[in-house]
Amino acid sequence: MTFDAATKMQFLYALRSKGVTDARVLTAMEKVDRALFVRGIFADRAYEDMPLPITCGQTISQPSVVGLMTQALQVSDRDKVLEVGTGSGYQAAILSKLARRVYTVDRYRSLVTAARAIFERQDMTNITTFTADGSYGFSEQAPFDRILLTAAAEDPPGPLLAQLRVGGIMVLPVGQSDTVQSLIRVTRHENGYDYDELRAVRFVPLLEGLGQE
Ligand code: SAH
Repeated sequence: MTFDAATKMQFLYALRSKGVTDARVLTAMEKVDRALFVRGIFADRAYEDMPLPITCGQTISQPSVVGLMTQALQVSDRDKVLEVGTGSGYQAAILSKLARRVYTVDRYRSLVTAARAIFERQDMTNITTFTADGSYGFSEQAPFDRILLTAAAEDPPGPLLAQLRVGGIMVLPVGQSDTVQSLIRVTRHENGYDYDELRAVRFVPLLEGLGQE
């Protein structure tokens, strides 16, 4: 199966029916072939609206959830974005079509290496990848206009709140790993933070330290 015109139409239709209506987000998702980020036997299902397993016991998120999170982040082409949880690299690739610059971090070196190779092959030159515990953010490049977490924290990590610029937006799943999590949006103001709860979601947990692979 290829990401041809008919497949794209179906893919976009499924996204719209799940509430992804932002035209810029839909255009970005039309430009990025999800099959590039899915290996082996699951590649055939790349255009279905379901999460799929990748290596290191992690998952590539469901496209409609990627779309809804990206939409909630309200990214503009002037923004510097930090993504915590590179995974396959799919979400970062979509952000790269919308933002000025994307920094993406994962705790598994092998995932970062694989994602970086795809970004290079696709000429996605505005993405910088690194391996670290992303809960601490990336102070050298802070503050960020937008921060997206694709792993669930119990609470928004303090260093990430601190690295969000005033006026900036952070979107993240919060909650215990195996129970219901909520996707929340944090907006930073001059005097503090506003929290909006968006919807129920299910993500892998945000873990401490580096992974073994
Ligand atoms: N955004 C990804 C899906 C991510 S799955 C995609 O588009 O494919 C969540 C990822 O978060 C996993 O790869 C996991 O290794 C990573 N992760 C979990 N805790 C982390 C941490 N503290 N720092 C960085 N990455 C983390």
